[in-house]
Amino acid sequence: MSQVNTIANVTDEVDGDEAVDQNISAGIALADVLRTTLGPNGRDKMLVGDGQVVLTNDGASIVDRIDIESPAAKLVSEVAHSQGGDIGDGATSAIVLSGALLREANELLEDGFHPTTIVNGYGEAATRARNRLPELATWENHDDETRRRIVETSITGRWDAERTAFLADLAVRGYQAARSTDGPRLENVTIHGIAGGGTADSKLLDGLVIDTDRSSTSVSDVPAPLPRRVEDANVAVVDDELTIQSPESTPQLSVEDTDALRRLQAFETGEYERYVDTLTTHNIDVLFCQKSIDDRLKALLAQAGILAFERTRQDEVHKLERATGASPIMRPGELNVGAVGHAHVVERRTLGASEFTLVRDSASTQVSLLLRGGTDHVVDETERIVVDAIDLLASFDARAGVVPGGGATEVALAADLRTWSRSIGDRTQIVVDAVADALETIPRTLARNAGHDPIDTLLELRHRHDDGDATAGLDVNTGDVADMYSRGIVAPVRLNERLIANATEAVTSILRIDGIIHVDEPVHEDGDDHDHQHAISGGFQSDSHGYPWAIGH
Ligand code: ADP
Ligand code: MG
Repeated sequence: MSQVNTIANVTDEVDGDEAVDQNISAGIALADVLRTTLGPNGRDKMLVGDGQVVLTNDGASIVDRIDIESPAAKLVSEVAHSQGGDIGDGATSAIVLSGALLREANELLEDGFHPTTIVNGYGEAATRARNRLPELATWENHDDETRRRIVETSITGRWDAERTAFLADLAVRGYQAARSTDGPRLENVTIHGIAGGGTADSKLLDGLVIDTDRSSTSVSDVPAPLPRRVEDANVAVVDDELTIQSPESTPQLSVEDTDALRRLQAFETGEYERYVDTLTTHNIDVLFCQKSIDDRLKALLAQAGILAFERTRQDEVHKLERATGASPIMRPGELNVGAVGHAHVVERRTLGASEFTLVRDSASTQVSLLLRGGTDHVVDETERIVVDAIDLLASFDARAGVVPGGGATEVALAADLRTWSRSIGDRTQIVVDAVADALETIPRTLARNAGHDPIDTLLELRHRHDDGDATAGLDVNTGDVADMYSRGIVAPVRLNERLIANATEAVTSILRIDGIIHVDEPVHEDGDDHDHQHAISGGFQSDSHGYPWAIGH
């Protein structure tokens, strides 16, 4: 709160468009909230709302869970979404960098710089930095060791070293196992969390894990026991419900209509028997149905020895197509040889209190990562980490360079910008230097969060870079400035490229805002499906103690 007040006081003294200043303060205030969570030593935020408590230092989940009222702060928060979505990492850095760029812009405005000069200078500096990045990167080490290092760097601080190394290895193996001839295919990896056990009980399974917990298939309500394991299985996938909705259906029938009722039931039973006949004609052993299956049909299927699953999720239907080669049909009558899939094994397994089914065929590269953890919260966190890790690995494969972490890349880029700015004759020089200062906020913040003096650390980093040590960064585990490659602290070059682009875009759009217009109708943008975030209001909400957002969800 004091932070926000300080910013409000500072901007009070600034001449010019009040709305612009308010926007900048709202963006800075949001970034300041996330600052203390950056890096392996970043501390958790405790998010409280709707009687629930969430502990996290994940930038993307923090901004996801707070209702941001100020449109400018919203622009900054979207940086976290695009960074997390595109790359799988760097959300907090992107917000911290945005905040630093806004703070620099605020000072430049105070010094009489025109917003346009700042916008242009930021754009030029960002272009320069992004052009320099590939030169700072190394491109030789496109291997699994580097992949593990990348994932470890991105998850340190969430877990202890042992679990970090374990999960990084698991993610890399899962990612690599899903490789087909044209490279790894993310849709071939299924991530499935089951509470119970420890992180180290997580494993990579060959095949597709189907969540049978959430599907209501049960063994008890059918007369014949369903097999737990079917080998060499013919598989059918039905993309609809398996019930008969006859128009002359039950509601109108009263007790006196017993005859009609009997006729109807006989008709339905005949229909269901024909379903089963079609399935047995095609030697179907296992049936997955996307919706529900009528109880009588379930019983007939069990009698025929067909293992039938109902309410299979839509995404699982797609995966089953890939894993077994089956084509989804709407009715058993549509079944033909081409639509029948195959699996070497379909096996129902029980783990803790959970049921899942493994579908495996040697012709498919479907793999599943079965993630374990003591509580639902830990499992959710682990799932998120692994999903992000796999996105991050895809970013690395799309562009195989790595850059040093621990602030090394930011210090190198800052030094380059300062050298380059000397050649700029006009005021842009000062703006470019401001971007250099903003980039150095990353190592300063990493140092501060780890309990080191940010100024001393920065001075040492600059010194080492001046001596030609372009990979010198801060290793927060040991507290010393060192070659980041030898410490394994690295990131895909693409992460840093997007980081700079995302932060600069958000900040320049805030600087371009010329006042806020309150409208009566909700403002909808194409593709913007974030609910409850359409409220547009300037300044701070009174009911959230001056903060430009309120804790929601
Ligand atoms: P983000 O959401 O931006 O990924 P993190 O909290 O994960 O935020 O912090 C990432 C930053 O921490 C990066 O700059 C990365 O280089 C740095 N980092 C990771 N591990 C270390 C380490 N051992 N020492 C110093 N910095 C590290
Ligand atoms: Mg990270």
